[in-house]
Amino acid sequence: MGLCPLARMPLLRDNFTGPLHPWAWPEVLTCTCWGAPIIWDGTFDPDVAQQEAVQNLTIGLTVFAVGRYLEKYLAHFLETAEQHFMVGQRVVYYVFTEGSAAVPRVRLGPGRRLREEREEREERVARWRPWQNVSMVRMRALHAALGGRLGREARFLRCVDVDQHFSGTFGSEALAESVAQLLGWHYRWRRRLLPFERDARSAAALDPSEGDFCYQAAVFGGSVAALRQLTVYCARGLRRDRARGLEARWHDESHLNKSFWLQKPAKLLSPEFCWSSDVGRRAEIRRPQLLWAPKEYALPRG
Ligand code: UDP
Ligand code: MN
Repeated sequence: MGLCPLARMPLLRDNFTGPLHPWAWPEVLTCTCWGAPIIWDGTFDPDVAQQEAVQNLTIGLTVFAVGRYLEKYLAHFLETAEQHFMVGQRVVYYVFTEGSAAVPRVRLGPGRRLREEREEREERVARWRPWQNVSMVRMRALHAALGGRLGREARFLRCVDVDQHFSGTFGSEALAESVAQLLGWHYRWRRRLLPFERDARSAAALDPSEGDFCYQAAVFGGSVAALRQLTVYCARGLRRDRARGLEARWHDESHLNKSFWLQKPAKLLSPEFCWSSDVGRRAEIRRPQLLWAPKEYALPRG
């Protein structure tokens, strides 16, 4: 991975004064070889991050909620976002859904609003089902929205899956020109074992010598300009693969990983920003900010 010598550092948390015990003081990677910080709980001061964040900016949180996912996850997702996501900032939730679907009413704090992104796209959204299609059109729909009102309104965006809920403060420290999320299942894996797309015919293909980290499609973000680039790159790759009868191993996530390999993210979020309890106990994961809902693979999606 070409690590810089100072990249690893012990996590000093809660003014820890106990013995130098590796369990209590795990070492984590805090910087990439291209100089992007990797944000862990304990490596930043939330108050300073809040002060340093440009004031008066609008932060957009985009989320797709189609079919069963809307009734099942959206209300809890929004309620917990109200408690933890960018509290004290101006926030707009952009909910992408089907034409007739009823978006739950959630009481929003001052300076926070919700917009439903469905007009003009009703026909297209109706074709989103089944699940694979939702996942496949997300990039295209986001790109279209970024070129419209959403792109004019928000300064920074966070694009997330709905099948999760906020469980800890997700604040200004997570903002940057482009932000990638380390995947909880793979952050300790050797690079050559990471599950990138290896079929050279796919637009998402990475050579065995390529790829930095395994990033998650369930959380990514950045400025409008950076996300327009990223979404159009992924949407084109998805379309090209589909035209050739191909589908990358991890769908849109494979294309996202290819895109972040070519255009390095400015900031990485540690896996605690989007954690799955199924991964098991990890000393360096203390206070997850977002938690995945249990996977229901047996149920049809959509
Ligand atoms: N999604 C949706 N309805 C569906 C399937 C997916 O709204 O029927 C959206 C939703 O935001 C979900 C995201 O697409 O979180 C990605 O799908 P999923 O969470 O099932 O993928 P995974 O996390 O398993 O990769
Ligand atoms: Mn998901």
